[in-house]
Amino acid sequence: MAARLVAARHLDDRPRAMRDIILKPGRDRSLRRGHPWLMSGAVARMTGDAEASPGEWVCVRSADGEVIGHGHLSPASTIRVRLLSFGEDDPGEELLEARIAASVGQREAHPLLSDTDAIRLVNAEADGLPGLVVDRFADVLVVKLLSVGMSVRESAVAQALKSVTEAPHALLRADGRSARREAFAAKQGVLWGTPPEQVEIVERGRHYAVDVHHGQKTGFYLDQRDARDLVQHLAEGRRTLDVFSYTGGFAVAAGVGGAKSLDLIESSADALKRAGENLARNELTMPAGLRRGDAFALLREGVAAGETWDLLILDPPPLARRKADVKKASRAYKDLLLQGFACAAPGAYVLAFTCSHHVSPELFSQIVFAAALDAGRDVQVQGRLAAPADHPVSVRQPEGHYLSGLLLRVAGDAGRESSA
Ligand code: SAH
Repeated sequence: MAARLVAARHLDDRPRAMRDIILKPGRDRSLRRGHPWLMSGAVARMTGDAEASPGEWVCVRSADGEVIGHGHLSPASTIRVRLLSFGEDDPGEELLEARIAASVGQREAHPLLSDTDAIRLVNAEADGLPGLVVDRFADVLVVKLLSVGMSVRESAVAQALKSVTEAPHALLRADGRSARREAFAAKQGVLWGTPPEQVEIVERGRHYAVDVHHGQKTGFYLDQRDARDLVQHLAEGRRTLDVFSYTGGFAVAAGVGGAKSLDLIESSADALKRAGENLARNELTMPAGLRRGDAFALLREGVAAGETWDLLILDPPPLARRKADVKKASRAYKDLLLQGFACAAPGAYVLAFTCSHHVSPELFSQIVFAAALDAGRDVQVQGRLAAPADHPVSVRQPEGHYLSGLLLRVAGDAGRESSA
């Protein structure tokens, strides 16, 4: 079959033949369902003499030569190709800007994303842009390049984002884990404009300062927006405990919702300091306690001291980063929940989350239920929570799901409330 010529802009200016990646027989099934990842074990061979370039635009073919789609080659990764398009036609590199425009446009007038100037504009695979994450915080875009394919296209990505969003400032945040996995040099720096040290955002009346340069993830947990709304709704008159508070996303929401008091637990001194500043930024006047240290230990201390709260948020970091960690993580989640239930006042609401994508919503429910039984508390599930509309999951790539949460209500001592 004749090799087509494409301009490989990221490599040099000479047109070159597009490389074919040919699958082993029978290994095309998940790709044919539109899953964007071609795993290295499914590859029979590659055409072309020259050494494959990281990020190269390639054509993926079945064992009998039929074109399945096109995407970015990652020679060092077990995810060997991330496909951006499916079917015979090669959409070419122009696809990038069109996809970015679609992803941003989709969010612009979204009824569930109103009244906030902080939104995830591109959510990688789920938006047909594998390896690209873009968050907007007011005037500033924060960009993460999570694959070598996106990394070598840094300038094309930046150009497209600039023309589509017209944002005045943009920052590239390094992601060491992805860079190691995909064997590229993680870069951090200004893409354009002069991003300030902190960006002030207003989310549904809640004010936060976001450290876009150094903060966790892209600076703020946009994926908990819906849960913050919920906390704000529930907080009136409640003594609230925000465990793993980071910069106080939930604590501020509880405060704005009229919580009676706020206690925060967080191990990072810097995050906790920023949380205090965020409380002040919202002119919250209820008593607030900032407790720095290990959440597991501090919760135990609280239980031992007989402390109780009426609204508890338990939002730990991913306790299982790898599949092999799931058992250990399950015990840690259960321990956390046990402590949480032990200091939940009768009638308390507990919001419990996992952001480990190896922990399914079903497994998480089992862990929570087991903890409630062991704690001897009568607990109802009143809601199931997940990431909001700007963090979609594609049905073609269900493993994009990672955040699960439960809204729980704790009755008095087991059985007493219902039989009273
Ligand atoms: N609830 C936060 C996000 C939490 S991310 C929000 O919505 O913004 C998890 C946080 O837990 C991080 O800020 C991390 O610094 C903190 N952390 C990690 N391990 C901890 C531990 N053992 N004890 C207390 N905090 C911890």
